[in-house]
Amino acid sequence: MKKYMPRELAGLAAKIRRFNRHRDWDKYHAPKNLAMGVMIEAAELAEHFLWQETAESRRPDARARAAIRDEVGDVLILLLNLCDKLDIDPVAAALNKLEHNRRKYPAALVRGKALKYDQYPERAARGTKRRPPLSVR
Ligand SMILES: [Mg+2]
Repeated sequence: MKKYMPRELAGLAAKIRRFNRHRDWDKYHAPKNLAMGVMIEAAELAEHFLWQETAESRRPDARARAAIRDEVGDVLILLLNLCDKLDIDPVAAALNKLEHNRRKYPAALVRGKALKYDQYPERAARGTKRRPPLSVR
């Protein structure tokens, strides 16, 4: 078991491994294919909300909620599959990113705002370095 992997997640990862082994599907599960699969399933998830008003997206009916839940399952299965192939602990990865984002977006600075980290005037005033456009690098 990976360092931070809760028992339920480790159990799910083991079931996914067994599912794939029984079908001889590991040969198709190159990380690039799994990463694309994550994107495709995430797009299927997003499709359920396409063209909805914000308020409507907050209260899907029972049928839509079941379909959304299925897509969440697809995303998680493929993501755990990818993590397994690359020996990445997904919980440790998320904890690491959360800590990174905590420092990048201090609550006192960003509370109630949804700007990118380098778009806060307080940061710009301190001369935060911006990378030049790709064309001149
Ligand atoms: Mg799907």
